[in-house]
Amino acid sequence: MRVREIFAKTVLTRTAISGFDYCLNPYVGCGHGCRYCYASFMKRFTGHKEPWGEFIDVKVNAPSLLKNQLRRAKPGMVAISTVTDPYQPIEKTYKITRGCLEALLDKQFPVNLLTRSPLCLRDIDLLKRFKKIEVGLTVTTHDEAMKKLFEPCSPSISSRLKALETLRKERVRTYAFIGPLLPLKPAPLVKMLEGLVDTVLIDRVNYPNKVKGLYRKNGLDAYLTDDYFNVIGMDLKERFEKKGIAVSLIF
Ligand code: SF4
Repeated sequence: MRVREIFAKTVLTRTAISGFDYCLNPYVGCGHGCRYCYASFMKRFTGHKEPWGEFIDVKVNAPSLLKNQLRRAKPGMVAISTVTDPYQPIEKTYKITRGCLEALLDKQFPVNLLTRSPLCLRDIDLLKRFKKIEVGLTVTTHDEAMKKLFEPCSPSISSRLKALETLRKERVRTYAFIGPLLPLKPAPLVKMLEGLVDTVLIDRVNYPNKVKGLYRKNGLDAYLTDDYFNVIGMDLKERFEKKGIAVSLIF
């Protein structure tokens, strides 16, 4: 992994993503290296030659820069993050996400945070103090072996479920992002998440060409079709709604 410290020019960026006003990405690149990652397009803009998952630029000035930007910014919902994981392993050392949360908390900007890592619990003291916050854990399948195939460097599903449980106990609003829909069985996935989340968001594999080879090599072609995404998406939606959990299908 090639790590580089950089000074960003801006860190709080206006976004057109529905439901959010700003996005905030403390890093460029991501150590989780998910095989389906759509954020790999960032490579084009940053001049990196290394494969996605093998470089990280750390925006070391992000917390101080954010403090400055927040002085003038109109309050609005901040999405952390959209093209990196704010709690990827390197955050343990650099604490850039934590620094940004401190700045946002100071101004009580509402936050929507999404991660694949229980490292978010390190900052629970801050998360609990936001008036408006939602913390999402991505859970793309119920099957740890499948997780390992598609997300070789990210934390286990069980550790994410424990993180959700702790967040709920601490009265932080939680959601599960089931996206992209990897090969999965709806019943065990719903059972795993029941009682741990307030809402659920579901998305399909958006760039199938990127992972076609991996699916084929592992005999999983049937899980990469429009039919699979539609049928499993609807099945999950019905099951969660029966449990009183609101679901947004975003495809
Ligand atoms: S955690 Fe998110 S940003 Fe990181 S590699 Fe996986 S999909 Fe990409």
